[in-house]
Amino acid sequence: SESMLWEMNPIYKDVKMKARLLANENPFGPSPNVQKAIAESISLGNRYGHSDAAYLIDMLAEKEGVKPENIMLGPGSTDMLEKTAIVLCKDGGNVVSADPSYMSLVNTAKAMGGEWKAVPLKMDYSHDLDGMEAAIDSETKLLYVCNPNNPMGAITDPEDLKAFCKSAAKKRPVFVDEAYLEFMDKPEDHTMVNLVSQGHDVMVARTFSKIHGMAGLRVGYLVATEERIKSITSMVRGTMGLCVTSLKGAIASIKDEKFLASCRKWNAESKAYTLEQVESMGFDPIPSHTSFMIFPIQEEGKVFAGKMMDQGVGIRVYSIADQPWCRVSMGTMDEMKLFSNALKTVTT
Ligand code: PLP
Repeated sequence: SESMLWEMNPIYKDVKMKARLLANENPFGPSPNVQKAIAESISLGNRYGHSDAAYLIDMLAEKEGVKPENIMLGPGSTDMLEKTAIVLCKDGGNVVSADPSYMSLVNTAKAMGGEWKAVPLKMDYSHDLDGMEAAIDSETKLLYVCNPNNPMGAITDPEDLKAFCKSAAKKRPVFVDEAYLEFMDKPEDHTMVNLVSQGHDVMVARTFSKIHGMAGLRVGYLVATEERIKSITSMVRGTMGLCVTSLKGAIASIKDEKFLASCRKWNAESKAYTLEQVESMGFDPIPSHTSFMIFPIQEEGKVFAGKMMDQGVGIRVYSIADQPWCRVSMGTMDEMKLFSNALKTVTT
């Protein structure tokens, strides 16, 4: 079944936003240490970043408990999603993923001539893992799981997901997108990355765009078996798309545990405040494990988004099964106050 999900493209250009809450960016980053590392590396811009890329890969391998051969680096996790789809779906086939979910990999697969086998989320907005495994057919090239999921912000039970990955990966590679993982209290209990060193054909994508606050600097990575990484990098390269400055920034950011912990705390504070505000206005948000929150609205999405933008607040609207939803990214406390006031003005 084709999805009822569609997204309205936000207007990024020529709009003065007082609160930019439409792309799940981290308002606190990049950390001062990252900014310093980047500033100091500008003069190195005449050289390719191969050695910095190798250094960052070594750091990531140590952090994830894998070998450097298990890591692929690129400009954002988008690069991992798209390159995986290009390589695995070059001869068509289908991708099994939840509906609704993040669409980057599926959209590239479709552009390559592939199809989307959409499996609706369960009533609690977790993945229907049994349904997804049952959807595998002879044409299936891979399965995609986004956990925590975007745009719903919900999680799928890690033990269930682990069992699913082990079983499904015997048939087809399973791609797990963990872009928002680090906003959780105990990310280590939810990551699927350990399955890679156990030899399962699981691909885990991570990004510096979210908790690290480096969305515009573009660094992301994939953790997968050596064979899987090789099958991709033999066709398309990861590190050639990377800037020396961004690499130096990412290296500094990994070392900045204190800043990452602060971002986790600030995000939780903004989320608690926002939850209280939207619930007091009678909205019913889905419990969020991420840096954004989504709730159903009464008004047609585009009209609603326009009215919020008139108040200087950028949000994202979705239509899910004919119901309009508002997704708001967590900003600073001041931005969340602007959002709450705008929401009050627009809906009362
Ligand atoms: N995956 C998910 C679930 C996302 O929400 C996003 C961006 O919002 C991305 C991947 C891509 O992010 P990036 O390419 O900046 O790493």
